[in-house]
Amino acid sequence: MSTANLAPLLAQNRLWSDARRAEDPEFFSRLVAQQAPEYLWIGCADSRVPANEIVDLLPGELFVHRNVANLVVHTDLNCLSVLQYAVEVLKVKHIMVVGHYGCGGVRAAMLNMKLGLINNWLRHIQDVNQKHDPHLATIIEESDRVDRLCELNVIEQAVNVCQTTVVEQAWERGQELSVHGWIYRLSDGLVRDLSMSVNNSDEIGSKRESAVHRLMTKPPLWI
Ligand code: ZN
Repeated sequence: MSTANLAPLLAQNRLWSDARRAEDPEFFSRLVAQQAPEYLWIGCADSRVPANEIVDLLPGELFVHRNVANLVVHTDLNCLSVLQYAVEVLKVKHIMVVGHYGCGGVRAAMLNMKLGLINNWLRHIQDVNQKHDPHLATIIEESDRVDRLCELNVIEQAVNVCQTTVVEQAWERGQELSVHGWIYRLSDGLVRDLSMSVNNSDEIGSKRESAVHRLMTKPPLWI
C-alpha cells in the first residue's frame, strides 16, 4: 500500500489544526503546557466508540485506555500502567469503565467463535459469561443475551478496577476517587449509567450485587 492512500488523513489533520487555531489561537499552547484530566476512560477499541467525542470533552480533559471489550485484567501491564499514571500522577477523580451494546468481542466470546490469539483475551469474558450463566440462559433472543453480557462485563471490569493495588492504595491514602460502570448504545449515541459507582473498598461487594440485581430485575435500560 502506498502512503498516497493516507494523504487525505494528513490533509484533514492540517484542516483540523487550522480550524482549531482559528477558533482559539491559544488552544495548542495551552495543551502543551498542561495535561490535567479529571477522568480516566477505560473503553472498547471499537472504532464506533470515540471516547472524547461521546462525552463532548476536548483533548486534555479525558485520559483514555481502550482495548477489545474494555477488559481490566490483573496482569495486563499496559492497562495497569495507565491506571497507575492516571491515579498517582494525574490524580484523576473518576474512572469510567465504558462498554457498549453489540460489542463484537463480547459476542465472539459468548458464541465461542474461533478467531485465533484473541480467544485468549476473550476468555476473560467467557469467565463472566460462566459466572452469570443461570441468568443469561433465561434470555431467549441472542442479541439481547449479548447485550446483557455487555452490561455484566462492565460491572465485573469495574470491580476489577476497584481491586487493583493502585486503586486500593489510593483509597487507603484517602484519595478522592470513584469508579463507575457505564454502557454506550451505538444506535442513539446515549450513555447509560449502570448504577455501579464505587467510592471506597468497603462498597465493592454491595455495589456490585445491587447493580447486577438491578439488571436482572428491571427491563433493559434502553427502553
Ligand atoms: Zn466492543
